[in-house]
Amino acid sequence: MTGNPLKPPKQPLKTPKRQWSISDFDIGKPLGKGKFGRVYLAREIKSNYIVALKVVFKEQIEKYRLHHQLRREMEIQTGLRHPNVLRLYGWFHDDERIFLILEYAHGGELYKELRKLGNLSERKAATYIASLTQALAYCHEKHVIHRDIKPENLLLDHEGRLKIADFGWSVQSRSKRHTMCGTLDYLAPEMVENKAHDWAVDNWTLGVLCYEFLYGVPPFEAESQKDTFRRIMKVDLSFPSSPDICAEAKDLISRLLVKDSSKRLSLEKIMEHPWIVKNVNPVCPK
Ligand code: AMP
Repeated sequence: MTGNPLKPPKQPLKTPKRQWSISDFDIGKPLGKGKFGRVYLAREIKSNYIVALKVVFKEQIEKYRLHHQLRREMEIQTGLRHPNVLRLYGWFHDDERIFLILEYAHGGELYKELRKLGNLSERKAATYIASLTQALAYCHEKHVIHRDIKPENLLLDHEGRLKIADFGWSVQSRSKRHTMCGTLDYLAPEMVENKAHDWAVDNWTLGVLCYEFLYGVPPFEAESQKDTFRRIMKVDLSFPSSPDICAEAKDLISRLLVKDSSKRLSLEKIMEHPWIVKNVNPVCPK
């Protein structure tokens, strides 16, 4: 194999000019374990380039009939180029495994940071929301709806820059979708109800995340899934008195957690919202 993984073939899935194999990489420490495989730190030997190698067992993919989903995830992610979207440089397979060559996110999961700190400062929360908004605007422009934005799917690079990862539930489509998917706490009412949905589900999720960043728990958390469903459908939103969060942040959340998807604040308007403008460092928004 030759070349640098920074410059993968333009369409590695359709016309792989270069055949990667496991012998092209030095495998390092495990970085984590997902539902269907493990992720390792790895170095591409020729270029010395550090990547994260995700190893998925074909048997698992067959068992759970995830072939279609994995292919879609790979096709979508290889086509995306944005500073806040984790790059998928390429992929290869052997008899038993599929390997995804991913950008390495040194800071790990945002979820861990959030759990460690309890909640984030308004400045940090606003910076992450602005990064996510810009990444989602880019995805929506390409007709990609992520549909599963949650702290576990957000990684941080060595500079603390947020990266959207895991496009397992994403879809590239101009028409309305019907599949119910995603994680309950982050689901928009139209998805809970199994109704047709579009890109506006990601805007709802931004509201959920903004709340969780600031208060440490998602807004519709409940004892049972049934109660969470109910709270989402009613948009049963309340703001705890502690921590003390400014009114502008609450205003942004309230404008995103709107049942009528056509009335939710647009991504463009999020970037112009006073809370975002006030809290995001314009020189270096990560
Ligand atoms: P996943 O199978 O994608 O859910 O990944 C499992 C875990 O591996 C994640 O929760 C992260 O902690 C870690 N991980 C996945 N991808 C990367 C990456 N590109 N860089 C660093 N850590 C990663």
